[in-house]
Amino acid sequence: MPATVDPSAQPSGPAQSFGSAETPGSETPLARTRRARRIVRILGEVHPDARIALDFTTPLELIVATVLSAQCTDKKVNEVTPTVFARYPVAAAYAGADRAELETILRPTGFFRAKANSVIGLGAALVDRFGGEVPRTLEELVTLPGVGRKTANVVLGHAFDTPGITVDTHVGRLSRRFGLTTQDDPVKVEADLAALIERKNWTIASDRMIFHGRRVCHARRPACGACAVAKLCPSYGTGPTSEIEAAKLVRGDVEAAR
Ligand code: SF4
Repeated sequence: MPATVDPSAQPSGPAQSFGSAETPGSETPLARTRRARRIVRILGEVHPDARIALDFTTPLELIVATVLSAQCTDKKVNEVTPTVFARYPVAAAYAGADRAELETILRPTGFFRAKANSVIGLGAALVDRFGGEVPRTLEELVTLPGVGRKTANVVLGHAFDTPGITVDTHVGRLSRRFGLTTQDDPVKVEADLAALIERKNWTIASDRMIFHGRRVCHARRPACGACAVAKLCPSYGTGPTSEIEAAKLVRGDVEAAR
């Protein structure tokens, strides 16, 4: 679905609410909290379609898809998972999978040997320790092979409706550009965001930041002149501020950017 960047939300010049008189260092915790929540709200207006890009219907499918998405685009994962999910419908099927066959199926996602190892181990751990079901807590999820904190939060937030902040490359970058954290460690970024954003919005805030990172606030040349949260962003000017130049950088189709 094309990105709908509301023209009325376009900045007409440099950031105003967050200008030279107010820098991340001098901002009060309350002001930062309000600004963070405003950013999340505006990103929701700009990216109303923000959602997890991986296709799944069950917690098991989501955890497998998330493991497969390491170093791979969600689009490519979605091309492979219909075959995977049909061939391995339950955790025991992964546990008993023929490794060579599984590797062949996973090959298009890259690092297919390691990923085959992970999902076989994942299936075995689910069968051995959780009755074949995906556990519902962060503490349990991170004990599973191939499942780190990022994957665990994806599963909690999207399969179990338990709020979770997913700190991927986009969320980390945008959090630093917004001045909501100075940390590089995803766990510390997650903690900083958790302190600023209402718990009920943790999952959707991550989804919106990921979409904004894919469509507008790119790693190399962010489209600052076409950014709806420019007035709240201390990094305004990192990319082109000219509306015309910035508009060319906006990726209207998230499929193309992911
Ligand atoms: S595009 Fe520019 S103004 Fe917008 S969030 Fe990124 S760095 Fe800030």
